[in-house]
Amino acid sequence: MSLTARDLLHKLAKDTGIDYSILAKRVNSDIKKGKSFLDSIRIIASDKGLNPDRYLLDSRKIAIEVKAILQDDYSQTLMISAVLAQMVEARGKQHYPVPAFLAYLEILYSISENDFTIQSDPPEDIDGTTTRIIELTTSLVSLVCRWNDDGIVGIAKSCPDELRELAKAVYRKTRMLQNGLWTCISCGKIVMVSDTRALMCLECDGQFSDDSSLTTFHRERERVGYGRTERGDSIE
Ligand SMILES: [Zn+2]
Repeated sequence: MSLTARDLLHKLAKDTGIDYSILAKRVNSDIKKGKSFLDSIRIIASDKGLNPDRYLLDSRKIAIEVKAILQDDYSQTLMISAVLAQMVEARGKQHYPVPAFLAYLEILYSISENDFTIQSDPPEDIDGTTTRIIELTTSLVSLVCRWNDDGIVGIAKSCPDELRELAKAVYRKTRMLQNGLWTCISCGKIVMVSDTRALMCLECDGQFSDDSSLTTFHRERERVGYGRTERGDSIE
């Protein structure tokens, strides 16, 4: 089964004989009109006489895969986290969408520190693994959140129960960002976007240079109070 939107688009391109980039454009324009990624894919498949049930993505499997990659190698995860944080701030082709990064962080925060494996060998293919994480997380948010032309507008109806908290956190924090607020990825404090550096509040950014551990990305879990999605906080 395909795990990412790109895998699925490639499969559809192969099965229909339609060029990948033409398909991608058509799907993008469908999404802008308010269709979900999967609905668009499945309608194209049906139009071409293919069985739409063969074109599915399972958000649960995607989340499990991301978690497995992150747990597998502590130092690799540390490197990927740093690269992704830079890519969120980058413009143009290198830009990593904020909702996908928020989903990444939610999965990262869900792993307890003892569950990371420390590998003795240095990671072999950081670029490849980073690309894989980017594709998995962007696919994940496209599935669990509801989108329109303005971006995320809620939680997808089809979002499975075990991913609703993640989807809520992504939605809520993305909306905060649209209002000029950002949750520091280190301490979880809510600050003005203009008062951040490398996605952290200025205090944490000042400390970051001597703190090269995942703790930086983990402190938010221990924090109490504002900044995290409260249970029962309904947004539909
Ligand atoms: Zn901070």
